[in-house]
Amino acid sequence: MKPTPWQQRWAIPPTPSDDADLFEIARYQFVSAAQYIPDLREGMLEFLSHCVRTVTVEFPVEMDDDTVEMFVGYRVLHSRVRGPGKGGIRYHPEVNEAEVRALAAWMTWKCAIVDVPFGGAKGGVVCNPKELSQSVLRRITRRYISELGDLIGPHTDIPAPDLYTDEQTMAWIYDTYDMLHPGRNNLPVVTGKPVDIGGSYGRREATGRGCVFVLERALAHGVLPDRDTIRGATVAIQGFGNVGSVAATLLAARDARVVAVSDSRGGIYNEEGLDPEAVLEHKRRTGSVAEFPGAKTITNAELLELPCDILIPAAFEKQITGANAERVQARLIVEAANGPLTPLADKVLHDRGIPVLPDILANAGGVTVSYFEWVQNIENEQWPEEEVNAKLRIKMERATDAVLRSYKDLDANLEQINTARRQYAGDDVEPVPKPDIRTAAYVVAITRVAHVAMERGIWP
Ligand code: GLU
Repeated sequence: MKPTPWQQRWAIPPTPSDDADLFEIARYQFVSAAQYIPDLREGMLEFLSHCVRTVTVEFPVEMDDDTVEMFVGYRVLHSRVRGPGKGGIRYHPEVNEAEVRALAAWMTWKCAIVDVPFGGAKGGVVCNPKELSQSVLRRITRRYISELGDLIGPHTDIPAPDLYTDEQTMAWIYDTYDMLHPGRNNLPVVTGKPVDIGGSYGRREATGRGCVFVLERALAHGVLPDRDTIRGATVAIQGFGNVGSVAATLLAARDARVVAVSDSRGGIYNEEGLDPEAVLEHKRRTGSVAEFPGAKTITNAELLELPCDILIPAAFEKQITGANAERVQARLIVEAANGPLTPLADKVLHDRGIPVLPDILANAGGVTVSYFEWVQNIENEQWPEEEVNAKLRIKMERATDAVLRSYKDLDANLEQINTARRQYAGDDVEPVPKPDIRTAAYVVAITRVAHVAMERGIWP
C-alpha cells in the first residue's frame, strides 16, 4: 500500500538498492533529509518530492544519408518556487525519464544552496553524439527545441549545457528560439553560449572552478582534521571532460599532486603526479587521456580505489556504489558529477568516516555562472572574467559555509530534533541518526525552498 503523506512525513525511508532508478534515489535523499526538519509541513514534503512537469517529445530527423530517424527527448521542470526553471540538456544514449527527473530535482536544491533565483529543470535527448555528425546534431537540437516550443523561455525555463552538449549546442538553441520569437532580447533563454553570442567569460570553466573553491573552503573549515589546504594533497579525478580537466588544472596550479585521471576509454596513473596541461594536449591530439607517456594504464573502476587524499568523480552517476565503496581509499570525496554516489555508497562511506562534499554543493559553480550570464544578458552587459571568477568564489564560499554550518548545527541539535519528532509523531517515531554532509546540504536547500513556498502560498 502506498504510504499516506503523513506516514511518509515521519518515516525514515529504507535505503534504495543500487539498481533503483535515479529519481527514486533523488527522492530518497530528499525525504530522508526532510526528517531533520521537524517543522516542515507534511504538504510541503509531498509538494517538493514531485516534479511539476515532465514532457516527452518524439521527433523525426533527417540523417546524412537521407533516411529519417525518430528521436526521444525530455524536458522536466521540478520546481519554479524560487524562480524560473534552470538546468542543462544532455545528449547521451542512456538518457531516460527517471534520470532527467532526478537531475531536475537536484537543480532545484543546487540553485537554492548557491542562492540564485532559479528553480530546477533538466532536459535530455536519447542519442549518441559520438556517432553523429555536426549537421545531424544541429537538426536534432533545432527540432527538439522547436518541439518544446514555449515550455522554455527567458523567464520560464532556461536550458544550459550538460553531458555531451556544449557552446555550439547552446548557440543552436538560442538561434532556434530567436527565429521563433523575433524582435526581442532572447539571449537569456539559454546559458553556456559562446562568448560572442552573449556567453559569459568563465562559464565553461565554472563547474570545475566552483568545485575547487568548495574544496578549498571545506578544507579550511576542517573537513579533514590534518589537512587545511590543497597544497601537497594527492588527487584522483574520474572524467577529464569540461569539469574534470578544469579541476585538474586548477588543483595542479595550487600545488596538489594529480595522480590519476580518466575518460571513457580508461585511466592513467602516476604516483609522482601528472601535468594536466600535458594530458590535455595529449587528449586533444589522440582523443583520449589513455596511453599518456610515462603513466600507468588503469581502468575507471581502479581509479576510484586508488590511495589518495581526494577523489573527484567528475563523470557519470552511480560510480561509487555498495559494491565498491568499501574499497575506496580516498580520505575525502568531492562530487563534481551529478549523482556519482549511490545511497548505499553514502552509508558505507559515512560509517567509515570518509566525508563527501555532495554534488548539489560541489558542482553548483556551473549554474552559478549561468545565473551571471543570464543577468549579463538581461542587462546587455559582458563582465570581465576576473569579475565573474571573483563573484563565483563568493557564492561558492557562502554556500559551503552554509552547508557546513548546517552540518555542525544538525549534529549539535540531534537530541532536540529527535525530541521534536516525538512531539509531532509520537514516541514510536524512529530517531534520525548522525547526519552526513549531503543531508546538511539538503536541509539548507529544503529550508530555503520551503520558506519561499510558504511566503508565496500554493496557488490559487
Ligand atoms: N548542467 C549543469 C548542472 O548540472 C549546469 C546547469 C546550468 O548551468 O543551468 O549543474
